[in-house]
Amino acid sequence: MTVLGNGIVGLACAYALLEDGRAVTIIDRGPPDDGTSTGNAGAIAAAEMIPIAEPGIWKKLPGMLLDPLGPLYLRLAHLPKLVPWFYRFLQACRPEDHHKGIAALAALLGRSMETHLAVLQRIGAQDMLRRNGTLFIYRTEEAFKAEADHWRQRMAHGIDATPLDRDGVLEHEPDLGPEARLGYFTPDWAHYRDPKVLVTALADHLRARGVLFERAEVSGLERSGDGVTALIAEGGRRIAVEHLVICAGAWSGRLSKQLGDPFPIEADRGYNTTLPEPGVDIRHMVTFAEDNFVMTPMQMGLRIGGSVEMGGLDATPNYQRSKALVSLAKRYIPDLNTTGGTEWMGHRPGTPNSIPVISPSPHVGNVHYAFGHGHLGLTMSFVTGRLIADMIAGRDSGVDMAPYRIDRYR
Ligand SMILES: Cc1cc2nc3c(=O)[nH]c(=O)nc-3n(C[C@H](O)[C@H](O)[C@H](O)COP(=O)(O)OP(=O)(O)OC[C@H]3O[C@@H](n4cnc5c(N)ncnc54)[C@H](O)[C@@H]3O)c2cc1C
Repeated sequence: MTVLGNGIVGLACAYALLEDGRAVTIIDRGPPDDGTSTGNAGAIAAAEMIPIAEPGIWKKLPGMLLDPLGPLYLRLAHLPKLVPWFYRFLQACRPEDHHKGIAALAALLGRSMETHLAVLQRIGAQDMLRRNGTLFIYRTEEAFKAEADHWRQRMAHGIDATPLDRDGVLEHEPDLGPEARLGYFTPDWAHYRDPKVLVTALADHLRARGVLFERAEVSGLERSGDGVTALIAEGGRRIAVEHLVICAGAWSGRLSKQLGDPFPIEADRGYNTTLPEPGVDIRHMVTFAEDNFVMTPMQMGLRIGGSVEMGGLDATPNYQRSKALVSLAKRYIPDLNTTGGTEWMGHRPGTPNSIPVISPSPHVGNVHYAFGHGHLGLTMSFVTGRLIADMIAGRDSGVDMAPYRIDRYR
């Protein structure tokens, strides 16, 4: 078995295939301790089942898109390439599609926590996770009420949530300033103390059990009959494969297209700043729902992140966005020490309807796809690995896999 991509989804697929007794090789152009899966906000966001495309969002889009440091920004040079993706995004905003999207995400999220716990136990790393829930914070009553329906939907899918007034907010997070007026608390959420430590430990575990890690920048795929026979790397180097699982994150569309499986995937670029000495005691992961950013207390500091920049795979990062997130945080925590931060950008692999691709190739007998996990790649990684292993083994996973197919737009 060859897994292309050593991000968290590739590692999770490799883990699940190894558990099935298969020999696995992982191919990537870089080391596992680098890239999008290592610098994210660290959440197992089991309650986050509301797709970004939702009815009425188009009303907010013009204002958001025009603000260069706002939560959602479109680089104009990238606009022509974004059109097919955006068309599907607007389709996903239809109420019926949106509700199907919630159900499809909930089916994966409902299995996410148990799959993380099982892997952490197996690799002896339970202490990497903090299982103390999360807060969603609102500045205004208007925003709090506007999100009531999201919370009803979450609760209808089994999420436990408690609304909070200002006193309730302070009980959980005493250092949040007066702008944090209202909120919700849910225990159905956990966060890693450092996602990079998880990725590194998992890679070490796989290596120790015989998984081979090979470096190669894959530019082509060699086919024969109805299968892929080899990956083509730098200088025409050929790497033979028997069965291939493509987990190349935001880059996966470039490869799937070569196999006759085009899919509209976009790099949804997210930013953060990690403050080494924030000078305040933030105890939970906190989502500031109205301002679209999150805060995670990690072992190396307080990570403040968010932002969606649709700018393609190759544009240089604009770290003004990391700085803008810190300014937003200061609004909620006036005492925050913002000095000495480390800025970071990662490429979320974004599908138009927020539903990942976990699918066999309809055209190529020995290829499966696992990509497009957007804002929830860490959360859904291990359930994805398990589903891929089930598909390859021909086992019934108990999950209807139709919503995750690569040919969903055909
Ligand atoms: C700011 C931010 C915060 C986030 N917070 C969270 C969170 O709290 N919880 C959560 O669940 N998710 C979060 N995410 C999302 C999560 O990080 C991603 O969904 C996840 O990392 C994607 O993992 P992946 O393995 O699919 O892709 P990647 O980690 O991008 O891995 C893909 C790999 O494929 C390799 N590759 C691609 N093409 C080729 C090629 N041609 N040849 C060789 N190698 C190739 C790349 O080198 C890369 O290593 C966040 C993302 C960002 C940006």
